[in-house]
Amino acid sequence: MIERADGLRVDDSYYYITIPLHLEYKWAQGHYFETFLKGLKQGKILINQCPSCGRHQIPPINVCGRCHVEMGEWKEVGPRGTVFAFNIVVDPVYDSGIPGMREVPYTVAHIILDGAPDVTIYHELEEQDLSKLKVGMRVEAVFKPEKEREGLLSDIIYFRTVTEPE
Ligand SMILES: [Zn+2]
Repeated sequence: MIERADGLRVDDSYYYITIPLHLEYKWAQGHYFETFLKGLKQGKILINQCPSCGRHQIPPINVCGRCHVEMGEWKEVGPRGTVFAFNIVVDPVYDSGIPGMREVPYTVAHIILDGAPDVTIYHELEEQDLSKLKVGMRVEAVFKPEKEREGLLSDIIYFRTVTEPE
């Protein structure tokens, strides 16, 4: 039995199966994703924009899915943005990034970054109080200290709530 964050006790005997799997491999990120990851290591969110339709892409890709032309224009966006949608995760889940079972609850959101109004970045929010969460709230990326950054999306710890004058 496991207890979820909402207090419900559930039979977990069918939730998990154990599969020993030990694989070590390298995956070529490619120029576009590499540029995005290098930006994160520098505390920047870099995205690209289609020269034909103006569409932004997070994470960056090499070809616009709409126009089929090479994406080229790089720009730094954020670190502030606006919450477009959010979700509070209450069921324990396996997180390959840890790796292991993830503590719950935690909040994830689609965030429209300043400078890229047509796309969202999916990341965690610091705020977990449902009464304080709302669509349209302003947030800001909080990066790990520079020496701890690895060039991964997890270099952004979470997005914290910010209050701005109206
Ligand atoms: Zn395009």
